[in-house]
Amino acid sequence: MKTASRALAAAAAVEFLHLAPAAVRLPPLRRTLARRTAGHGAAAGHIALTFDDGPDPRSTPYVLDALDELGARATFFLLGAMLERAPALGRELVRRGHEVAVHGWHHRQQWYPAPARDLRELRRASEAVTELCGARPLWYRPPYGVLTAGPALAARRLGLRSVLWTAWGRDWTAEATGASVYATARPGLTGGATLLLHDSDCTSAPGSWRATLAALPLIAAHCRTRRLTLGPLCDHALPLS
Ligand SMILES: [Zn+2]
Repeated sequence: MKTASRALAAAAAVEFLHLAPAAVRLPPLRRTLARRTAGHGAAAGHIALTFDDGPDPRSTPYVLDALDELGARATFFLLGAMLERAPALGRELVRRGHEVAVHGWHHRQQWYPAPARDLRELRRASEAVTELCGARPLWYRPPYGVLTAGPALAARRLGLRSVLWTAWGRDWTAEATGASVYATARPGLTGGATLLLHDSDCTSAPGSWRATLAALPLIAAHCRTRRLTLGPLCDHALPLS
C-alpha cells in the first residue's frame, strides 16, 4: 500500500476506534492499524507513561518532582502555545530525562479539511519543541485523540509517528481524585499499555492536575508489584507502522 493511502487508512481506523471502541468488529487490516496507532508496545514489561497539554508552570514542576521521587520517566505531548510561554520548563523536561513530543500548536480539533494549514501548524509546533526543548520529537498525538487524515499525513511528512493511548484515568474531570484516576486506569495497566494523563488543566477542570499528581504513587506501586516499568514511548517497542 502506498504511504499516503496507508496513513489515510490508519487515520480512518483510529477515528472509528475513538468513536466506537468495539475495535473487534474492524476487519483485520484496519484492526492492526488501529492497534498500532493506539500505542500497544511489544515490550511486555513496560508501560508507556504519557502526559498531554503542558508544559504548564503551575502544575508540570509538581509532576516532575513526583516522577523523580518515583524514579519514573515519561513522554510529554506539548502544546506549542504553552511551550512558547514556558520554554525553560521545556528544557527542564529534557534535562530530567523525559521525552518530548507534539500535541499541536493550539488545543483544537479541526472539523473541516485544510491540509496546508494542518502541515503549517504541526510543523510550527514540531519546530518549537525541537528548538525550545533541544530534542527532536518522534511522536504526535492529536487533541482529543481524534486523528483525521490531514494531521495524520502532516505528521507523517514531518517524520512524526501518531500515537494515541490504550488506557486513561479520566483525570480531566472536576470529580477526579487520585483514587478515581487509579481505579479508572487500573484495568488497562498491563504490559504494553500506553497510559494517558495530563500535566496541565489548561483544557481540563481547574485544578484537576492535583488528582493526576495524587494518582502517580498509586500507579507506580501497581507497576512495581507486577514488575512493570513505567517509561517513555521511545522505550515502548511500538511495532513499525
Ligand atoms: Zn490534550
